[in-house]
Amino acid sequence: LANDLNITDTLYEERLEIQEWDKTFPLIRDSKKCIKCMRCVQVCDKIAGLGIWTLEGTGARSTINVSGARTIAEADCSLCGQCITHCPVGALKERDDTEEFLRAIADPKKVVVVQVAPAVRTAWGEGLGLDLSEATVGKIFDSLKKIGVDYVFDTAFSADLTIMEEASEFIARFSNGELAEKPMFTSCCPGWVRFLKSNYPHLTGQLSSAKSPMQMFGAVMKTHFAKEIGVAPEDIYSVAIMPCVAKKGERNMEFFHEEYAGYDTDCVLTSRELIRMIKAFHILPETLEDAEPDHLFHDVTGAGIIFGATGGVMEAALRTAYHSLMGENCPPDAFKVVRAESQKTGLTEATFSLKDTNLRIAVVNGLANTRKLMEEIDRGEKKYDFVEVMACPGGCVGGGGQPIHDGEELA
Ligand code: SF4
Repeated sequence: LANDLNITDTLYEERLEIQEWDKTFPLIRDSKKCIKCMRCVQVCDKIAGLGIWTLEGTGARSTINVSGARTIAEADCSLCGQCITHCPVGALKERDDTEEFLRAIADPKKVVVVQVAPAVRTAWGEGLGLDLSEATVGKIFDSLKKIGVDYVFDTAFSADLTIMEEASEFIARFSNGELAEKPMFTSCCPGWVRFLKSNYPHLTGQLSSAKSPMQMFGAVMKTHFAKEIGVAPEDIYSVAIMPCVAKKGERNMEFFHEEYAGYDTDCVLTSRELIRMIKAFHILPETLEDAEPDHLFHDVTGAGIIFGATGGVMEAALRTAYHSLMGENCPPDAFKVVRAESQKTGLTEATFSLKDTNLRIAVVNGLANTRKLMEEIDRGEKKYDFVEVMACPGGCVGGGGQPIHDGEELA
């Protein structure tokens, strides 16, 4: 409409009373593309349980705005990005950080190190017309090397670190009675952490203190890895390819900033941004080969890989807790039910006996389901020892940074 009428952004926004938009925020709105179909309003209400978007005004003057706040940055947006993946016209998208990434590639002083999250491999091929069986993580590594990246790694490595931290923290807090009233919550999903902090701030102490796999990996890159390859920490440019929009927000958090080396993670790109770059570099998917991750963080376990799906973090944590308590590996698939059930439903509850102790766990995905569960936990109606929460339906595989499901790139 604005293009047809040849009017400026400001005039257009004034005429329709559209809120100003902070272009540095990880979620970007282009009002000129909005057709007011209300999908974002529905999704934010029914899936995300937030109700951030609202329709204001009537008829031709109606607009979609952020409810009850002057700007998006002031709203309680969890950044799950589900509105982006459900917008049929690309009026919502993630902040584009590819230019910043390409500047680092072109800088001869910078050593560019990229980690690829487990869930990215499940969907990146959709945007390039690759079959699921062809779209391996090795081909992502190959495409990144062709783009000019120096080192490539699998985030499953630091998911293994996270789970060792989280499982031992759980055993310690469970054993000293700290979880008698309220459970410990997983902390690896930044969409969930934002939601908890704004909606249930009195329960933030129940979060695991472990950094997410992305942040652990960034910290390891700027310390141990920099030392091993003989590079100053400030010359490492640490990039994360994530299925997630909330990770762009997590990366910016002040307490992940070190004076001597900057942020643990310098740049977060979504699966969609990765696909756009592969296309921009004219890399033909059929020419990609299975490359290995680089040396030093080459080996990963299956526990790290299952982080990408709902129930995966809990299954990995229970396996590790079993080993710590029983002194041996658990039987294969001892806790598989957690992940299998969680993929069918928004909430899974189970009790497991470990060494005469009953562990009560819950796994929830989607913030609307989470809000319901949190109300019950807060009122004391439901008691658990350990709860896994993933903001996106199905976990990170259904993340807000994944390819848009009709197979078309709309952003
Ligand atoms: Fe990001 Fe995964 Fe959480 Fe979704 S579920 S907000 S993709 S970490």
